[in-house]
Amino acid sequence: MGNVKAVSPQGQPSALNNSTFSNSKILALNKKYRTVWALNSAGSLLGWDLEVNMPKMGSTPRGTVAAEISLLEQKQMGELYPFLEEADKVQGDLNDYEKGVVRVLKRRQKFFTKIPPSLLDEEQKIAVEATVAWRDARKKSDFQAFKPYLEKTVAMKIEEAQKLGYEKHPYNALLDLYDEGLTVDDMDALFSKLIPALKKILGKVRSEIKYTPGSPLVETRYDAESMGKFNKKLTEILDMPEDRFRMDVSTHPFMESMSRDDVRITTRYEGVDFRGSMCSVVHESGHAIYELQIDEKLDYTAVGKAVSNGFHESQSRFWENIIGRSRSFVSLIYPTLRENLDFIAMYDEEQLYAYFNLVRPGLIRVDSDELTYNFHIALRYDLEKKLLDGKISASELPSIWNETMDDYLGITPTNDAEGVLQDVHWSSGSFGYFPTYSLGNIIAGMVWHNIRKEISLEDKVRKGDFAPIKTWLSERIHKWGSTYAPKDLAKRSLGESYNPERLVEYLEQKYLGK
Ligand SMILES: [Zn+2]
Repeated sequence: MGNVKAVSPQGQPSALNNSTFSNSKILALNKKYRTVWALNSAGSLLGWDLEVNMPKMGSTPRGTVAAEISLLEQKQMGELYPFLEEADKVQGDLNDYEKGVVRVLKRRQKFFTKIPPSLLDEEQKIAVEATVAWRDARKKSDFQAFKPYLEKTVAMKIEEAQKLGYEKHPYNALLDLYDEGLTVDDMDALFSKLIPALKKILGKVRSEIKYTPGSPLVETRYDAESMGKFNKKLTEILDMPEDRFRMDVSTHPFMESMSRDDVRITTRYEGVDFRGSMCSVVHESGHAIYELQIDEKLDYTAVGKAVSNGFHESQSRFWENIIGRSRSFVSLIYPTLRENLDFIAMYDEEQLYAYFNLVRPGLIRVDSDELTYNFHIALRYDLEKKLLDGKISASELPSIWNETMDDYLGITPTNDAEGVLQDVHWSSGSFGYFPTYSLGNIIAGMVWHNIRKEISLEDKVRKGDFAPIKTWLSERIHKWGSTYAPKDLAKRSLGESYNPERLVEYLEQKYLGK
């Protein structure tokens, strides 16, 4: 299949191309940053190894290594501040890439200088304790056992927000850590349009005669070895570059990038319902394509990485849902599926398409389909927001959770394990992370809206001709790394601010044939 070179901006006249970094203050800053970059890269590799290779007993010393590396990183960042201040003084002389470097590093500086190491330490300790307590509480479906840890975590997060400083709402400080510039006002506006529109689509889909909530393939077992062979072929079909990319196995699929030339994904083999394994490969490959296509001129600099969680997730969702669950993609992979999985011969392409796109309101977020997924996020967003500003207390969570699930999807958890206790995020202190999943879906809709004006997606996907799609994504999004702040990138590359109507339009077209 050959390999995909990172798309360089050749042919696209840009005044910036010939002088990515030329200002002497920035060159000095970039030189200092190299050490921070190297420590980050080493940390990424250790993180990958922990999930993929490390024997169980290695976790304690590995935790020490990770903590020491992050201390070194903080120290190196400290040495960089004088250079950053010098560069900041000459903003007027800088090009967009150079301004990007200053912007990104000032954000890191703000975090490290406003949050005292003692608070980070304390948060880390509580996260470890809370995660242990959460695992146990989930097993026993006992929210009361987790509640004190959750209360402690929320209190720490409020303290963190106060230290960071914020306008209007304490949650804004935390949202900004995961997605630069994202605010409660943004998410309120997005969800207030998205949720009613999704309710309408879901209602119509469920009342249609052709609506099938199940497929025998959901219960069909597969053998991991055959599935592994198929997944390998799938990465070839997606034209992932063999010498810069690899795939392994882990409990929870993820993507990790050590550098632009060493990007890795994992998938899992549960032995039943092969969608999970296959869709993880496409999803994580979407993340990987982003990292692989950042402009090489940005290597080892602060802007040589993806811009935000929302944009990252938009790429994985675009590949997983908009491409991976399309009719033309099913056509493309059908022969390879038949070759590798015996039971596929019993199904035609249309049945497979239906299986990939089952709409089934369920209680568990990670198992939900593209039509119901955002309800799960809207619920969590609202709870996080209200916990942070004290509008609700932890003890109210289970009842609000259950009522909202009933309102959104017409189903109610029978216990807290399949309700409020299902996610790891709150025990690990990742408040502010959830909304970026929905933002990713929204941006993926914007990508779909724009790319179709220039490329016949159906046609290219059916032929497995992904190069023009990758080039488009690179030119608009990937190659810039973090040069522009996410909200600026949305306007420059997708023509508007975050707009949920594009996603709604995509879902209406797909599920209602509009
Ligand atoms: Zn993802």
